[in-house]
Amino acid sequence: MTKHLELVFLGTSPLAIPLFFCQCPICESARKHPQERRTRASLAVIGKELTIIDPGPDLEQQLEREKLCRPICNILITHWHYDHIAGLGTLREVNNLAKWKPIEIYVPEEVEFHFNQELAYLKPALNIHKIKVGDKLNLQDFSVEVIKTEHIDHSIGFILTNNKRIAYLVDTTYPSEETRKKLKNLDIIIMEATVDELVTTIPWQNFSLDQALAFWEELKPFNKECIFTHLSNHRWINGKLLSGLTIAERKKIENDNPGVSFAYDGLKVLF
Ligand SMILES: [Zn+2]
Ligand SMILES: [Zn+2]
Repeated sequence: MTKHLELVFLGTSPLAIPLFFCQCPICESARKHPQERRTRASLAVIGKELTIIDPGPDLEQQLEREKLCRPICNILITHWHYDHIAGLGTLREVNNLAKWKPIEIYVPEEVEFHFNQELAYLKPALNIHKIKVGDKLNLQDFSVEVIKTEHIDHSIGFILTNNKRIAYLVDTTYPSEETRKKLKNLDIIIMEATVDELVTTIPWQNFSLDQALAFWEELKPFNKECIFTHLSNHRWINGKLLSGLTIAERKKIENDNPGVSFAYDGLKVLF
């Protein structure tokens, strides 16, 4: 275990903000103010090693932005959706050009077959480990417990333990009792709140902000702090993606809900 680690929120959204097809006030504001831009949700854990959770399609620009010019040692994957894995594609080049050692990559066992099919060319760059709910991993800097999220059949989340205990839950709706029992005595729960408001009759595989806040109310007595991420900054109402909360409205939610904050790209937290 390494004493002091740093978490860096490389990205904090399921979609790029601004969305290229959207002219809503949130996207227009992000066009004017680069600090309001969001890239696809991903987390870096920095200690003796560099670990990336979910290398999404923005991986290269995120690492460049954060000046993380060093070998990636470990990758953890929550599930096989584009916004969480599309950065894998470039790692073969890094292996070829920068001569990094193969990266230890931990993937849900159900999706390992992708590395024998469309990603076979990546295999020299990776040491692939299949993981499942209940597994415990001991990385050099911290340990990891694998927990189930309610998003798709194989989706998982992680509890990272070092000096602090941190849960990373993207993407998910209200999790099973088995997972909820694990969400205790945590210093930080990093939780998704994908859309600001959700009005639909179709079953949805992600939290709205209201649902995420309600879940945090349930978790609050047993845990210290909650950081929301995977924020589309839009509402989803009867099949339409509409503008979401402004920065001032988010600040009000933070003030009204002690312990809650919203992540932004580049946010750093000591671990
Ligand atoms: Zn996602
Ligand atoms: Zn928009």
